[in-house]
Amino acid sequence: MVTSNTEDLVALCGSLTERIAVKRTPGAEKAFVDAMLQQMREDGIVWSMGAAECGGRAASLSDLARMTSAIARQSGSAGLIFAMHASQALCIVRHCEDSLFLKDLQARMIGGQHLIASGTSEKGPSGDIFKSLCTVDDAPTGASLVTKDSPNISYLDLAGAILITAMRQGRSGRPSQVLIAAETANMDIASGAPAEFMGMGGMSNAPYVVTARFAPEAVFARPFAAIARETMTPVIHILWASAWSGIAADILGKVRQFVEKQADHDAAAANSMRLELSRLVDLQFTMIALIRDAIAGWENPDVSAAPNLSFRQTARIKRLKIVCSETLTKLCVDALEILGISGYSERGPFSISQPIRDALSAKVMISNFRLGTANANIERFIEEAI
Ligand SMILES: Cc1cc2nc3c(=O)[nH]c(=O)nc-3n(C[C@H](O)[C@H](O)[C@H](O)COP(=O)(O)OP(=O)(O)OC[C@H]3O[C@@H](n4cnc5c(N)ncnc54)[C@H](O)[C@@H]3O)c2cc1C
Repeated sequence: MVTSNTEDLVALCGSLTERIAVKRTPGAEKAFVDAMLQQMREDGIVWSMGAAECGGRAASLSDLARMTSAIARQSGSAGLIFAMHASQALCIVRHCEDSLFLKDLQARMIGGQHLIASGTSEKGPSGDIFKSLCTVDDAPTGASLVTKDSPNISYLDLAGAILITAMRQGRSGRPSQVLIAAETANMDIASGAPAEFMGMGGMSNAPYVVTARFAPEAVFARPFAAIARETMTPVIHILWASAWSGIAADILGKVRQFVEKQADHDAAAANSMRLELSRLVDLQFTMIALIRDAIAGWENPDVSAAPNLSFRQTARIKRLKIVCSETLTKLCVDALEILGISGYSERGPFSISQPIRDALSAKVMISNFRLGTANANIERFIEEAI
């Protein structure tokens, strides 16, 4: 089913699990998420952000945020996959410039509704994505080559392409970091043992050594640092936070039901719980307000904030990630206090074991320490005001 209205897309995202035959079974989360993704392909959701001229529906960042949240409310893993894919896909959409090669790639990815994976981290620099050890080998004739030793690539089993960072010798002879749109069909992939993370079990996560062959035109003309600043980093943080708001909504839904059930036999306790529940909604509201603010800042940058605009934007997007991941963690733990053992249990209608384990990835997906340290270094150039 393909619809034209982006409101419809949000509604379709919200009803995914009602429209798939596979039901969530403990220990078999990947089959459930794979079925959600298949439905998303059939709905045209996966490449909803694609440019209209390439067959996409040009969904805005605000649309994508609401779609991500709706998906993550049903499965944190599916929400995270959509968030990461959308951030990579938007790099192709926004930075293909006049490259016929990248436009053709985009059209083919839209046609097949293929996921785009992220190959930015690397063994060695690890979470410091602005450092690459691997180097593009540009053959005088034929395909270029790069070998990336990655500590983790998510959902590679389902991806049609990976955006890979690498060093490349420029015309001046000086190496610079570039971004490559490498198709998985033209790769040798050696996988390490599955990561076995405590959460996000609905997607494959593993270290990989990837050797990609690609045409020189698969390298984006714009330097990676600019693509990261303008698109990849803000979009990933906004959509990650949107996924976390969906996980928060899932937990809040369970707490609401639990409180109403309590009211049937202990009205006084239920009243106290309602106050606690309201405090949880305060936390979710904080996350949503920060996400809205970040989307507005990305879509309409406040140029009056120059000359330190880029410092301010960089710091704000990192703050979004740090504050939303910490707020979600607090929301999870506070929800557990209301739900008691019904929430702490691995099973049952009020168990929040799964969303809590998914939520804990928020702090480590690009370490908050790393982001906080980067902000601390530029704090003296920034003064925030209303
Ligand atoms: C669920 C999940 C999915 C992922 N998917 C992908 C993917 O698809 N593609 C991809 O490229 N990567 C992916 N990653 C990797 C991720 O993006 C980061 O590269 C990775 O989480 C960083 O690993 P690290 O914890 O070793 O942190 P690093 O940033 O390498 O830091 C190592 C340690 O040092 C600490 N540290 C870092 N900086 C400081 C500092 N300034 N002060 C104090 N301590 C510091 C950190 O807290 C951490 O414990 C994924 C990670 C997760 C959790």
